[in-house]
Amino acid sequence: MDSAAIKNYIEQNKERFLNELMDLLKIPSISAKSDYKDAVLQTAEAVKQRLLEAGVDKAEVSPSKGNPIVYAEKIISPTLPTVIVYGHYDVQPAEPLDLWDSPPFEPVIKKTAVHPDGAIFARGACDDKGQMYMHVKAFESMMKTNSLPCNVKFMIEGEEEVGSPSLGPWIIENKSRLNGDVILISDTSMIANDTPSIDTGLRGLAYMEVEVSGPNRDLHSGVYGGAVANPINVLCKLIADCHDENKHITIPGFYDKVVELSNAERADMALAPFHLDEFKKDLNVSDIMGEKGYSTIERTGIRPTLDVNGIWGGYIGEGAKTVLPAKAFAKISMRLVPNQNSQEISALFQKHFESVAPASVKVKVTPHHGGEPVVVSTESKGYKAASAAMESTFGKKPVPTRGGGSIPIVALFKKELGLDSILFGFGLDSDALHSPNEHYGLFNYYKGIETIPLFYSNFTNQK
Ligand SMILES: [Zn+2]
Repeated sequence: MDSAAIKNYIEQNKERFLNELMDLLKIPSISAKSDYKDAVLQTAEAVKQRLLEAGVDKAEVSPSKGNPIVYAEKIISPTLPTVIVYGHYDVQPAEPLDLWDSPPFEPVIKKTAVHPDGAIFARGACDDKGQMYMHVKAFESMMKTNSLPCNVKFMIEGEEEVGSPSLGPWIIENKSRLNGDVILISDTSMIANDTPSIDTGLRGLAYMEVEVSGPNRDLHSGVYGGAVANPINVLCKLIADCHDENKHITIPGFYDKVVELSNAERADMALAPFHLDEFKKDLNVSDIMGEKGYSTIERTGIRPTLDVNGIWGGYIGEGAKTVLPAKAFAKISMRLVPNQNSQEISALFQKHFESVAPASVKVKVTPHHGGEPVVVSTESKGYKAASAAMESTFGKKPVPTRGGGSIPIVALFKKELGLDSILFGFGLDSDALHSPNEHYGLFNYYKGIETIPLFYSNFTNQK
């Protein structure tokens, strides 16, 4: 591979690469809201079009039970390896809108302390349009410099932010054309722009909705208060009791299958640079909180968690209304680690909540989407190719890390296609993913486009 030619091609087309991404970011492809269906479909069409222009043999917006999957391929020779690129074109909702410094779907470039070369601010800039589009541009750069070393298939979905409910069935239906050698995904982060890293594990997820019902109607809190269970009070107590004083989760059986890391593995993880002061400063908190006996990196990487994602009920309008509400609700997610299983944990959660609730209320627990935790071996061909690629372009060997997020489909790829996924992320945790003012560094965008082709050549030429 002529990496100088690729670098030169990227340099010459820099402006266009950026403008194309900005155009994609203008389409509000929010998968969680049905009002945005048209925007979701429009984004899928745009991605397909860009892939065709980049040089794939064929591309299609392939229907699924939900939002379509953009599928494209470039086959040079059946004897060469095939890299399957996965990404997603859908984004998280942008709320709360008033916390954005500029409108979420009107991308702008601004400099920040972390990104002195500038960053694109928009919903989806990093997660995942920016990171997904690096692959399209890396592919174009290889095509236009005649240096694509192997076959490529693209599988870009539109429901990642809602748990990929249609991707599993779609993969099963399309198995015959999804043969390949490795899955390449850029939907995770690295430690810092001067400290590249590759995720070697992802947490799984179990997501629950809890409904607590008390009396058959909202009551006057003066007439009934103190005599009838208040569902909000009960729900808050149930939630508070989920952790003990050491921040261990109290659901019986929750930790039974958790794999504890060896001291050597924990020592390796501790090599990743981490500055507690900067961490606190970035979040503007005076102190941190978490499970006793584990470092911050361990708490977000190798330990399971339980968090309330939303809670509502009663009167939340202006002024005061003295009501004892009939119902209270919460959405609760649990991040899982190897070898926890999302269905087992969901069942334990459900059983626990139903059994500890007082007889004065009814509790209904509904599981939402889940996903399984995964671990990628640093000895695999894919990991080695990715590590060497980053080492070339960053001038530093990447640190293997455990990501705190969940990409449930990684376990699915392993199960259905038998393929390992390489988590080749170029974003930063400070890029405000899922938050207001999400952004993606221009440095990261171009560095990704430059690094991806090296993965292809390393992977193809590996003995
Ligand atoms: Zn994502």
